[in-house]
Amino acid sequence: MAEEIVEQGYRKLADEILEHNPGVDLARVRAAFELADRAHAGQKRKAGTPYVTHCIEAARICVEMGLDEDSVVAALLHDVIEDTALTHDDIAKEFGAEVADIVEGVTKLTRVRFTNREDEQMENLRKMLMAMAKDIRVILIKLADRLHNMRTMEYMTPAKQLEKSTETMEIYAPIAHRLGLQRVKWELEDRSLRYIDPEGYREITEYLESKKERLDAFMAMVEMRITKRLSENGINATVQSRIKHTYSIYRKMYAQNLSLDGVFDLCAFRVIVDNIADCYNVLGHIHDMYRPVPGRFKDYVASPKPNGYQSVQTTVIGEEGIMFEVQIRTWEMHRTAEYGIAAHWKYKSGEAGVRAGDEEKFAWIRQLLEAQQESDAGEFVHDLKMDMFDDEVFVFTPQGDVVNLPAGACPIDFAYGIHSAVGNSMIGAKVNGRIVPFDYALQNGDIVDILTSKSAPGPSRDWMNLCKSNAARTKIRQWLKKERREENILRGREMFEGEMRRAGLSMAYINDEELVQTCIRKLAVTSLDDMYAAIGYGGITSTRVVNRFRDEIARAAKQNTQKTAIDKINEAAERRSGKPVKAVNGVLVEGMDNCLIKFSRCCTPVPGDPVVGFITRGQGISVHRADCPNYLNSLREDRENRWIHVDWADTTTGAYSTTLRILAHDRNGLVLDIATVLNSLSAKVLSLNARGLPDGNALILVTLEVPDLSALRLIMGRLRTLGGVRQIERGNG
Ligand code: MN
Repeated sequence: MAEEIVEQGYRKLADEILEHNPGVDLARVRAAFELADRAHAGQKRKAGTPYVTHCIEAARICVEMGLDEDSVVAALLHDVIEDTALTHDDIAKEFGAEVADIVEGVTKLTRVRFTNREDEQMENLRKMLMAMAKDIRVILIKLADRLHNMRTMEYMTPAKQLEKSTETMEIYAPIAHRLGLQRVKWELEDRSLRYIDPEGYREITEYLESKKERLDAFMAMVEMRITKRLSENGINATVQSRIKHTYSIYRKMYAQNLSLDGVFDLCAFRVIVDNIADCYNVLGHIHDMYRPVPGRFKDYVASPKPNGYQSVQTTVIGEEGIMFEVQIRTWEMHRTAEYGIAAHWKYKSGEAGVRAGDEEKFAWIRQLLEAQQESDAGEFVHDLKMDMFDDEVFVFTPQGDVVNLPAGACPIDFAYGIHSAVGNSMIGAKVNGRIVPFDYALQNGDIVDILTSKSAPGPSRDWMNLCKSNAARTKIRQWLKKERREENILRGREMFEGEMRRAGLSMAYINDEELVQTCIRKLAVTSLDDMYAAIGYGGITSTRVVNRFRDEIARAAKQNTQKTAIDKINEAAERRSGKPVKAVNGVLVEGMDNCLIKFSRCCTPVPGDPVVGFITRGQGISVHRADCPNYLNSLREDRENRWIHVDWADTTTGAYSTTLRILAHDRNGLVLDIATVLNSLSAKVLSLNARGLPDGNALILVTLEVPDLSALRLIMGRLRTLGGVRQIERGNG
């Protein structure tokens, strides 16, 4: 008895294959059937029938969709990995790796549970499902499987019915819609509605039943009138009519808050023609016969829906004021509308190319359609890989929420995707119950559990390289910025120095305060330490900082050159006006050539310092810095008549003696360190005197020779970086 049911079922399948796709190798299909039959032996459906009948029915749905031979074989075997002892390898050995891969893909989807989700999670779940199926045939077989399960749902418990129906309504029907499988979508929706809202379902079906006779008569009449009109006008057309599917009426009732009597367009008509031009001809005739409802005309031929759907649609008012919808399309469009993406295995060469519109989101469908026109069906199947979600991965929290991350993401991305506090206290991760390394690449459907600890050391810099999501990197950077300032400064300084070396720039520039201040301002940091810290935590790259320095150094150099040019012009002007041009020791004295010049010992000026001259008695001109205390005091004492304007000449002698007073914490090796710095900067030391002070500090007086002020500043800056150095002043004080 049971055997007979099974054999009958198989015969139906074989007949349908012969009818729909005679090229299929029936012996191979038979072998798959027999393997499934043996593997599922003894298992029964809830209906009491042998389990393999479900496999046969799923395969029949695939045949109806027009899927290829491998799909039909895989559909027959779709539950053997999940429910029997057979493995991927067993299937691969007998039917090839492709069939085995598809079966395994279906098995993976079967294992995902979708119950009790928030609405916003649904789109992610649908995407995940699509992403998990590397081959679109996996999805199509899964839809066939679900469709047959919904057809036999009456045998399940009420709880199971509600669970499966909700899942079908929210996951599988939208996927069917997206792939353009309208027929499958409608049936899934209607069958789900029956269990989700049994009363609403019954209300509509009973209402339709009560109106059936009237609607049937009405549809027959309209069908006839349209057929007649079109044939009189020489248009070859097939007219079909149907009552709209239950769920679409249901949705309209609720969306527009209508009673059933308020839903006017219960029936729909379809006119199928041979070419696109006839679509518009038919539209003209329909609008001539019936009054169109304003705002209801839609041209999906000119701009197809994202899932490839094409039709000209209009709603008109017919006899007795009954409103109805008419879809007009070509046979090619019709197949696409009914079977969507699946239609293209069966009907390969097209008439006018089917276009899927401009929506980039579904570009892959368009590509499939285009590929389909050029290759034969067999090759086409191989191209049908899902690359739609290649850049995303979907994983679960232990609570079952879906988290959407970039492909290749690791548990760190996941942790920060939950909350930065989770990331910052992360000490490890479990995936599907097993501890994984931090750089484990998450797979679709993984359940990820982040292990945290209050005493976690916090993120490390390496994590930034492991992360794939910008969100995680930003959060790690924020943490590092806040928690690791000292470390960041040191590290940033090191990176800065390295980059300066690579750029061929001396670290001495860091002592040019004007330069540093300009750079700091332009880099939008508040101090040198801040700049180092920012480099250290990655807020700014050392390359960018060094580029800024290089630019500013170049700008300063250019300004200096310009200044020199202006000086030359002034010089020429001065020469004409009889001013002194002859310098002594690099100093020009107002109104005098060749006078004796000496440099004051109190303030030891060097070229670059603003200077003034003091006319001594019999010892020529003594040159002081313009900020020399002696000069400033003497102004108050009204001796200004002995001061004279002096300036540095363009060319100076290159060696000016000057004195620095260094106050430092006294420590071992201090003097040696100072001497080392001076030596490394090629400063010629004339004398160096150190003495300890009673307060534990040391005072060091250094007299050295420098060419000019910038060289001196460089030396002072470098000395300031020495450990213990507190203050450096110029002059003997
Ligand atoms: Mn199944």
